This record gives sequence, C-alpha cells and structure tokens, in this order.
Amino acid sequence: MTSPAYKRVLLKLSGEALMGDDPYGINRATIERMVADVSEVAKLGVELAIVIGGGNIFRGVAPGAQGMDRATADYMGMLATVMNSLALADAMRQAGITARVMSAIAIEQVVEPYVRPKALQYLEEGKIVVFAAGTGNPFFTTDTAAALRGSEIGAQIVLKATKVDGVYSADPNKDPDATRYSTITFDEAISKHLQVMDATAFALCRDQKLPIKVFSIVKPGALKRVIMGEDEGTLVHV
Ligand code: UDP
Repeated sequence: MTSPAYKRVLLKLSGEALMGDDPYGINRATIERMVADVSEVAKLGVELAIVIGGGNIFRGVAPGAQGMDRATADYMGMLATVMNSLALADAMRQAGITARVMSAIAIEQVVEPYVRPKALQYLEEGKIVVFAAGTGNPFFTTDTAAALRGSEIGAQIVLKATKVDGVYSADPNKDPDATRYSTITFDEAISKHLQVMDATAFALCRDQKLPIKVFSIVKPGALKRVIMGEDEGTLVHV
C-alpha cells in the first residue's frame, strides 16, 4: 500500500458544509459522514488539525447582523465556531476518535485555550486538534485562522474543503465551459482573479509557502484521495 503524501495537515471545514441540505444548523448525517472521512485519514497515521467555520450558525456580515456593531457580530461568529467545534469533537468521540478542542477566545469552563506547544503535543500523540473561535479577532475569517494555525503547527498543506471540487476557470454553476485547474500557482491565481480563500488567508499562505488544496467535501472519498496525493481538487502552490 502506498503511504500518505503528508505527515501533518490542517483541514478547513466551512460551517456551511455541516448544514447538509438543511437551511441552517448541524445536520446529523452530514457531520457523521465527515467524521467517517476524517477517521479514515487519521487511521493512516496522518496528524490532523481542523479549523471549522461558523457560517451555518452565524455570520458576522449576514443580514441578520445588519445594524450590529461589526466587532460584536464577529465575536458572535467566533462563538458559533466554538459550537461547531464541540459538535465535531463529540461526533468524533462517538466514533472512537480522540479529539481536543482549543479555543482562541478564553472560555475555559467550556474548552481549553489555544496554547501552541500543547496543540503540537496533542498532534504528536495522534489526537485530532480542533481549533475553535477562529483567530480570536474580529474582522478575520476562519480561512485566515486555517492559514495562521496551519503555519504555526508546521502543517505541510492547508486542505480547504468546499462544496465545489476545486478551483475553476469560471463559476461552474454559471459557465458550462468552466474547467478545473489540477494545479495552479499563487501568482497565476492572483493574475486570473481566482478566488481560492479570502485575501488575508491567501496572502499568509503565499508568504509562508504553505500550499492549499481545494477539494469537495461532498464527494465520497475525496479527503482520502487528497491525503494520498492523488489528482483530486486543485493544488495551489508557490
Ligand atoms: N470570525 C471572526 N474572526 C475569525 C474567524 C471568524 O470574526 O478569526 C467570525 C466572522 O464573523 C465570520 C464568522 O466568525 O463571519 C464565521 O466564520 P467564517 O465566515 O469564516 O465561517 P465559514 O464561512 O467557514 O462557515
């Protein structure tokens, strides 16, 4: 059997991916399927850290938050990511996987705070670490948290799980001629105005020479194929 292409990865799951076909919240069947995908990869011995978004529960810039102070709304968004992280860790516990949630915002009765050496220790012990509360700062996103934590833990790649199976030359929902890039450089993505991650996250990955793989979370087995280094999704590299 061939071995995984990576030893340590940072997986970014959007909060919206947890909704399944529901209008909001956490869809049980969807989270269980995600955990099954994660479990398959963890069994290969890959050290896995996860950043999960909060868009399924709350988005700071959403219409429901209109009129709210932006920073306050963003803190609510970060708390939503804590809820998703707890749900994900608990679903992993039920599946027999050991996970630790670490929060960028201190809420110690609920989850332990993010402490980098502790996170590294958990990863070395084979535990899955779920980074909650984004970067801990308003005006950022969980994509940026993924780029930041990925850089901090020395991940070899950021795996961005989305509903689309990669980066396309145009919006595949609108343009039938849109084609998927198998690989693309950071510079090409910028010059072609392709949206891979938000600009802050993208710039950080580029500076740190941290590659990004965009792939589909809804496609069965895609995470494992990505981990095995197969041609799945789009690899954005230096
Ligand atoms: N957020 C924030 N700072 C961070 C990460 C997230 O303020 O470092 C807030 C922001 O309001 C954002 C919300 O949390 O809209 C949910 O995160 P995100 O939109 O990245 O979640 P996703 O789109 O992945 O579900």
